[in-house]
Amino acid sequence: MISKEDIIKRFIGYATIDTESDPNSNTTPSTKKQWDLANKLAEELKTIGMQDVSIDDNAYIMATLPSNVDYKVPTIGFISHFDTSPDFTGANVNPQIVENYHGGDIVLNKEQNIVLSPDYFEDLKLYIGQTLITTDGTTLLGADDKAGICEIVSAMEYLINHPEIKHGTIRIGFTPDEEIGRGAHKFDVEKFGADWAYTMDGSQIGELEYENFNAASAVVKVKGKIVHPGYAKGKMINSMHIATEFINSLPRIETPEHTEGYQGFFHLHDIVGNVEETILQYIIRDHDKDHFEARKEVMQKLTNELNTQYGREVIITEIKDQYYNMREKIEPVIHIVDIAEEAMKQVGITPLIKAIRGGTDGSQLSYMGLPCPNIFAGGHNFHGRYEYVPVESMIKATEVICKITELTATSAKVE
Ligand SMILES: [Zn+2]
Repeated sequence: MISKEDIIKRFIGYATIDTESDPNSNTTPSTKKQWDLANKLAEELKTIGMQDVSIDDNAYIMATLPSNVDYKVPTIGFISHFDTSPDFTGANVNPQIVENYHGGDIVLNKEQNIVLSPDYFEDLKLYIGQTLITTDGTTLLGADDKAGICEIVSAMEYLINHPEIKHGTIRIGFTPDEEIGRGAHKFDVEKFGADWAYTMDGSQIGELEYENFNAASAVVKVKGKIVHPGYAKGKMINSMHIATEFINSLPRIETPEHTEGYQGFFHLHDIVGNVEETILQYIIRDHDKDHFEARKEVMQKLTNELNTQYGREVIITEIKDQYYNMREKIEPVIHIVDIAEEAMKQVGITPLIKAIRGGTDGSQLSYMGLPCPNIFAGGHNFHGRYEYVPVESMIKATEVICKITELTATSAKVE
């Protein structure tokens, strides 16, 4: 199978190139430096023998591994993103290799006393005896999602070198700007031309996800009226007090800090206010479509009630849908999840199927016509200095990709 040394070398080659994206930029890619890795990847894909390697004006990369069987097999795709999160710096990443992890504290940075400890990050205990790649404590690692890229490239290379493994046409796609919610935006689904695909962008080994939140944002504008406080009786309207009424009328326990699993929430994430005007910013999340719609209605109803109570339009609430649960698009083609699950079992992994409490590129792609569940890439503690990835998980993810292509070809033959 794929060697540890090769995977480590490839991953570090990607991780040490800064590709932080920027939500305040309007260009695609959002930062020029993402081209550094994008161009390198396009070259590498040609070097390993991929066909139709293309990189468009927005740095989206696509490539093909042609079928090696003489019967019809669905075209499947594998997708990951090469940008890293703007939440934490991705400049001068200096990966550390921890061989044969002993199960205790890992000192990431002696001078700054930064320690990666299983007392706090219990998942570390899953990887005792394995090889971990960590940061030096001053940057993120970028395993999200350079681990995914590394696994896809390694799997393609492996399939090219092992033609005895039978597969149909495989398409791969690498995108910029996923971390700022724009990875799928300019993804040309038609050009990609796959029947379905998988994003390699999950965390722990075994993760397989095809459910995510339905998501909306809400901006609640409360209008007040400033009058000299000494002469304000019956005249002043304090927008902050009305805003407080609004906030307190929503269920206090349906918030992120009180929910888990399939429980949805209202999340107030910003308030700016004075007497004249207060603006509340919410996000609304729910896996269930009906509950999601009901949550939006609750906000509108509350707005109307307060407006009636004050006898004028004191509140304007604007709700915008952001993305939807991909489940609706995946269930009609649930065999694509079954294949991934079976592939994991065949390479000795216990599948962990669970609902994502967030969104993925895959959910947007699914609504653009490309059903796209998400598979683990292996990393943990994304978007910060404690990010790490076990090399063994990356190797397993590579095996899962190869196995999915093989199972797709064999099941097509039986049919
Ligand atoms: Zn990611």
